[in-house]
Amino acid sequence: MRLTVREIAEAAGGKVLCGNPETICLHLCTDSRTVQEGDLFVPVIGARVDSHEMIKAALEAGASAALTSRHKEMKDSSGKAWIAVEDTVKAMQKIGALCRKKSAVPAVGVTGSVGKTTTREMIAAALSAGKRVFKTAKNLNSQIGVPITLSEIGPEDEVAVLELGIGEPGEMEVIAGISGVNAAVVTNIGVAHIELLGSQDNIYREKMKITAGMKPGDPLFFNGDDPILRAHKESAGFPVILCGTGEDCDYRAEEIVPRQDRVSFMMKYKGKSLPVELSVPGRHNVINALIALAVADYFGIPVECAAEKLKEFRGFAGRLQYSAANGVEILDDTYNASPASMLAGLNVLADMACEGRRIAVLGDMLELGPDTGRYHEEVGEKLAGLKVDLVMTVGELAARIGRTALKAGSGARVMNFKDTEEAKPALLAQVQRGDCVYLKASRGMHLEELVQALEGRC
Ligand code: ATP
Ligand code: MG
Repeated sequence: MRLTVREIAEAAGGKVLCGNPETICLHLCTDSRTVQEGDLFVPVIGARVDSHEMIKAALEAGASAALTSRHKEMKDSSGKAWIAVEDTVKAMQKIGALCRKKSAVPAVGVTGSVGKTTTREMIAAALSAGKRVFKTAKNLNSQIGVPITLSEIGPEDEVAVLELGIGEPGEMEVIAGISGVNAAVVTNIGVAHIELLGSQDNIYREKMKITAGMKPGDPLFFNGDDPILRAHKESAGFPVILCGTGEDCDYRAEEIVPRQDRVSFMMKYKGKSLPVELSVPGRHNVINALIALAVADYFGIPVECAAEKLKEFRGFAGRLQYSAANGVEILDDTYNASPASMLAGLNVLADMACEGRRIAVLGDMLELGPDTGRYHEEVGEKLAGLKVDLVMTVGELAARIGRTALKAGSGARVMNFKDTEEAKPALLAQVQRGDCVYLKASRGMHLEELVQALEGRC
C-alpha cells in the first residue's frame, strides 16, 4: 500500500504516539505469526483473544508500525511507530478505503450466498485474457479481509475482482462502501447466514448494498436461474445482465453436456454462439462461467479468448474437486455446505456416468438458523428425485435428509452415523471399485477425513 505512518494516522483519525511519521508501511497484517518486514500490524479484539498483546512480537518480527486502541501514550526505544486509534477494525477499513481511492482501477464486486470464490476465480481467469487482474486472495471477503485486500491493489493492476461476503446485517454497507465497485455480480440468494438476516428478502436487500458507490448505468450481473434475482431484474436500480439457462437470459447456456470432471455448453449471447468447455464439473459452474464471460465481454475482452483462459480454471481443494483413487471416483465438496451448494453437488453426482453405485455422504449443514431442520428435509425431498444409490448421513441434522428422502420415495439405501469417526469404517467397508462417492457437509463436520480415508491416506 506504500503509506507513511503520517498518512495512516490521518486516514484513520488517529495519533502517532511514537516513531518516525515518515516510516513507510507496505501491507496490513492482523496475524503476528505471519508478519513481514514493513507491515502495519493491526491488533483485533476478538471474543477470546485480544491481539494487542502481540504488538511487541509483531514489531520485533519486522512490522514497521502498529495500530492500538489500548494505549494513550507510548515510548518505544526500538524506534517503531505506534498509532493510537479509537477502534482498530474501523481504522483498517478507513486505511483500505484510502488505498482504494488512490487506485484508479475499475473493480468488479462479487457477492452471493454460494459460489463467490468460484465465480471470482472464473471472472479473474476470463479477464486475464486481456488485462492484468488483481483479485481477492484466499477468502478475504469480510470486514477485516476486504481492507487487507484493498491495501494490496498495485499500480500495475488494470482491473480488480473483489469478493464481498456478509456475515451479519450492516456488513455489506461497510465493505461495499470502502470497495467502491464499478460493476457487481450476485451469484444467488440462498439461505446462508439466514439466522442473522431473517429472510431471503433481507438477504437480497443486504447483498444489493454491494452497489454502494456504483454510478447510474453501471452493470449488475445476476444469476438468471435464481428466482429472487430474476424477479428483481427491472427493480434492481441498475441495468441487469441475466446469465442462465432461461430464454430471457442475456448470456444463455444451451446444450449443456456434463461429464465426470468437466462440463461443456454452447453460449448464446448478442445473437452469437460460442462453444465453451470448462475444466470443472457441474451445471452450477455453467452459470458461474456465463457470468465470468459476460463480465469479460463488458470489459472489452474478446469472449473467445476469455473462454480459452476460463478453461485453465481447475477449481480448489474441497470445492467439488474430482479425483480417482483405487478405482473409486471421488467428488470432494467438504470445504463447507449450504442447501444450494449441496443440491448443486448432488446433481453433479446424479449426472456422473458411473459403473458402480452413486454414493452420497452428507453431513450436517450448520448455521442455518431456526428452520435448519426444514432446510435439511428440503434437500432430502429433492434428493429423492435424483439418481443416488446409497446415502450415508453423518450427524443428527443430516439424518433428516435421509429420512425425508425415503419418505419422498427415494429408492436409495440410507444409513446414518453419529459422526465422522463412526462413518469412516462403514464407508470403507461399503465402497467398491467403480463407485462414485460425493462428500459434503459444513466444515465443522470434518468430512475431509473421510476423503483422506478413501484416498488411502489414513
Ligand atoms: P464462502 O461463503 O465460504 O466464501 P463462497 O460463496 O465463496 O463461500 P465457493 O467457495 O465458491 O462459495 O463455493 C462453495 C460451494 O458452493 C462449493 O461446494 C461449490 O461447489 C458450490 N457452488 C459454487 N457455485 C455455485 C452455484 N452457482 N450454485 C450452487 N452452488 C455453487
Ligand atoms: Mg468464498
